[in-house]
Amino acid sequence: MKAIIFILTCLIMTFNSNAQTTKIIAHRGAWKNTNAPQNSIAALEEAIKGKYWGSEFDVCLTKDDVLIVNHDNDFKGIDIATSESKDLLNQRLSNGEKIPTAKEYMLAGINHPIKMIYEIKPNKLGKERTIKSTELSYKLVKNLKALQQTIFISFSYDACLKLREMDTNVQIQYLGNDKSPKQLHIDKITGLDFNIGVYKNHPDYIKEAKKYNMQTNVWTVNDAETMRHFIEQNIDFITTDEPELLKQLLK
Ligand code: MG
Repeated sequence: MKAIIFILTCLIMTFNSNAQTTKIIAHRGAWKNTNAPQNSIAALEEAIKGKYWGSEFDVCLTKDDVLIVNHDNDFKGIDIATSESKDLLNQRLSNGEKIPTAKEYMLAGINHPIKMIYEIKPNKLGKERTIKSTELSYKLVKNLKALQQTIFISFSYDACLKLREMDTNVQIQYLGNDKSPKQLHIDKITGLDFNIGVYKNHPDYIKEAKKYNMQTNVWTVNDAETMRHFIEQNIDFITTDEPELLKQLLK
């Protein structure tokens, strides 16, 4: 009898540890089912309330070197890279919230049990401005003493390499589709944050990344079937617009 209980306990523990392997990252905050605008502080607060592991957000650089949180190159037709911050920071999101600076956004997440997944957007004016944005982002997070709580992600490989040059420990995941886990490992990038299609085209990537002790993240997974597929692959993180659904599945 004791042996049976022991085996059952082991099985439950194994099941639980597998179930807890994959962590939830709310893509642009938890907005879809909460009516908070994407990339708003309200969406971050919903992600904190939902107890998700991480919350992702997008950061762009203005002409006068202010980091603001927004996904697109423009906000309501105002081009961010070529505009002054004063023309953007008086703009409102659909919930009445002011468009947040990266500093305001970070401050809203600091001291809460949530990882800040900080995406450095490539600047449309070119590499030099993307590197500027990277340097300012790194300094901001460092000055806020939030490096441990933050994972930087970017489609700009220049930004990823710059971060590694500035800090040997900072966590960096690459979003593009043109690097293998081996190449990322050689360049000391902490992890891959690839689109669903990249993993489907390269079914060996998750295992290969784990061999190098690299983090694996996938975006943007919004349906149960694909979530189950990646959970079964033991992916480390799933980035989703449907964190509520993923939380249910992981239970
Ligand atoms: Mg993003």
